Amino acid sequence: MGTFKAIRIDKADKGTTAALTQFDEAELMEGDVTVAVEWSTLNYKDGLAVTGKAPVVRRFPMIAGIDFAGTVEQSSHPAWKTGDKVVCNGWGMGETHLGAYAEKARVKGDWLVRLPDGISTREAMAIGTAGYTAMLSVLALEKHGLTPKSGPIVVTGAAGGVGSVASAVLSKLGYHVIASTGRMSEADYLKGLGAAEVIDRAELAGPAKPLAKERWAGGVDSVGSTTLANLLSMTKYGGAIAACGLAAGMDLPSSVAPFILRGVCLLGIDSVMCPIEQRKLAWNRLASDLDKGKLSDITHEIGLDQVIGAGAEILAGKVRGRIVVKIL
Ligand code: NDP
Repeated sequence: MGTFKAIRIDKADKGTTAALTQFDEAELMEGDVTVAVEWSTLNYKDGLAVTGKAPVVRRFPMIAGIDFAGTVEQSSHPAWKTGDKVVCNGWGMGETHLGAYAEKARVKGDWLVRLPDGISTREAMAIGTAGYTAMLSVLALEKHGLTPKSGPIVVTGAAGGVGSVASAVLSKLGYHVIASTGRMSEADYLKGLGAAEVIDRAELAGPAKPLAKERWAGGVDSVGSTTLANLLSMTKYGGAIAACGLAAGMDLPSSVAPFILRGVCLLGIDSVMCPIEQRKLAWNRLASDLDKGKLSDITHEIGLDQVIGAGAEILAGKVRGRIVVKIL
C-alpha cells in the first residue's frame, strides 16, 4: 500500500492544524468502495473545518472535505464496479469519516450517487454540496405546492454558493427571483443568473416584526438569524421558506405569528443525512434544471494547495459562486 496526497487535520494544543501532506493508504477507514477522487469543492463547512473556526472535525487525524466526485477504483458493493462515475456528499465525510480533499476516498457504497448523464465529475463538484442543497430546497418548495404562479421567491446569501445555484435553478424554472445580497456590486452577476430583482441584505438584517408586508410566496435562506425571521414575517399567506443555512447565525429571533396567522411553513433542509432516494432526485433535477453555461460562469478552479487559504475567504463572505478543487 502506498501514500496519497491529502489535506490532513490534526488536533493541536489549541484547536487544530491543517496541512497538505502524504496520507498512508493503510489508514483509510472502513468502506466497501474505494474511489479515485477527481474533484472536490469548497463549501462553507469546509472553510470552518480547515481553519478550525468551528468544531466540524470530530475524529483525528481527519482528511477534510465534505464532498467529492470521481471514479470507482475498487468495489465489493453490488451496485458499484470499477470505472463507475460517482458523487458523494456529506454522510459525515470530513467530520467523522475521512473526507474528500484526497486522491483516494473509501466510503460505503450506499452513500454514493451515480453521476447523472450529462454531468461531468468537474461539473458535479462545481455544483457541490452547496448546489445540491439549493436543489433540495427547491424540491421542498415544490413539495409544498409552490409554482412560478404562486409569486416571487426570495433567495438570501444570493452571491454565495447555495444562493447562486438556487437563483439560477429557480429562474430557469420560471420563478420571479428576488436575490438578497450584501454585495450590491454583484447585482449584474445575479441578474446574469436570472434574478429579476436584487435587494440589499440590510433590508432583511434588522429585528423582525411579527408580521410585515407580504412580499414573496417562498424563499431559500442560507443566512438564518434575523434574516430568516424577516423572511418569515414577509411571506405571503400559505407560503414557505426553505431554511438551509446559518451564514449570519444559528439563532432565529422570530414569533409564531407567520405560522398561526398566515399559515406560513418553515421547511428544514439537511443535506448530510438526506435519504439516498431524495439525493438521486436532486442530482437528476440538477442535470435537467441547471443551465451549464451559468454553472460555468459561477465556478472557478483552485488546486489542493490553495484550499486552506480559500477556507478563510469563504468564511469572510468573500467567495462569489462556487469553487472547484482539482484533485487528480
Ligand atoms: P457561501 O459562503 O458561499 O455563501 C454564504 C453567503 O451568505 C455569502 O456569500 C453572503 O452572500 C451571505 N452572508 C455571509 N455572511 C453573512 C452575514 N453575516 N449576514 C448576511 N448574509 C451573509 O456559503 P454556502 O453557500 O456554501 O453555504 C451557505 C450556508 O448554507 C452556510 O451557512 C452553510 O453552512 C449552509 N449549508 C447548509 C447545508 C445543509 O445541509 N443544510 C449544506 C450546505 C450549506 P451575499 O454576499 O450575497 O450577501
